[in-house]
Amino acid sequence: MLELEDLQIRQGDFALSADLKVPAGARVAVIGPSGSGKSTLLGAIAGFIVPESGRILWGGEPITPLLPAERPVSILFQENNLFPHLTAAQNIGLGLRADLKLNAGERDRIEQAMKRTGLEGLGLRRPADLSGGQQSRVALARAFLRNKPLMLLDEPFAALGPALKREMLSLLGEIAGENGNTVLMVTHDPDDARLFADLVVMVDEGKAHPPAPAAEILTNPPEALRRYLGEQ
Ligand code: ADP
Ligand code: MG
Repeated sequence: MLELEDLQIRQGDFALSADLKVPAGARVAVIGPSGSGKSTLLGAIAGFIVPESGRILWGGEPITPLLPAERPVSILFQENNLFPHLTAAQNIGLGLRADLKLNAGERDRIEQAMKRTGLEGLGLRRPADLSGGQQSRVALARAFLRNKPLMLLDEPFAALGPALKREMLSLLGEIAGENGNTVLMVTHDPDDARLFADLVVMVDEGKAHPPAPAAEILTNPPEALRRYLGEQ
């Protein structure tokens, strides 16, 4: 379980509070207006942003004192953050070792990850020679290879067309299911939430609300969500 306990985050004039629990293995869509603090929330969980007060716990253990690299967290951004001068296999390998000094076992794991994400035979290509969908697969393979229980995605696949995006969401769901990951995914698209999530965390007016069942909340949205959906 992920617990945000009386969390207060401040960035300049902006303040966000969160007091909520996410069960292990859950798939959570984080939705809310632009600028409401969705990325800030993920940044605090990942350890890039230090909260003003409160605690973040994973499996009952406080992770707030840990550096980002020490947290049980893997994060994937919309931009994919692929290095243009590295091959697909090397970009994926960065999930294992930043210096890319990989042993045979690690190279084998990269090969497996490429197979699992449909990138077989493309290991030597550079990002510029891959399609947008293939680039997303590289980023996804790298994130999963880190083998961290908590997967945070900030508007992933937003640059892809609807069919490719559905395909990637379904691949994400499959692999997360196989690995037992807990997934928090920021999205501005309620269809993503419908497709992927069993829970929705609404971020609005300075607060990240406790997760509500996705089916329920999307069928019969509370006022804050209705307002947001109305803006779409
Ligand atoms: P979202 O991801 O929901 O669009 P963000 O978490 O990126 O929103 O931003 C939330 C608020 O925090 C915004 O008002 C933004 O202007 C502000 N903000 C983000 N980063 C910083 C920063 N480094 N310093 C000050 N304010 C920031
Ligand atoms: Mg954001």
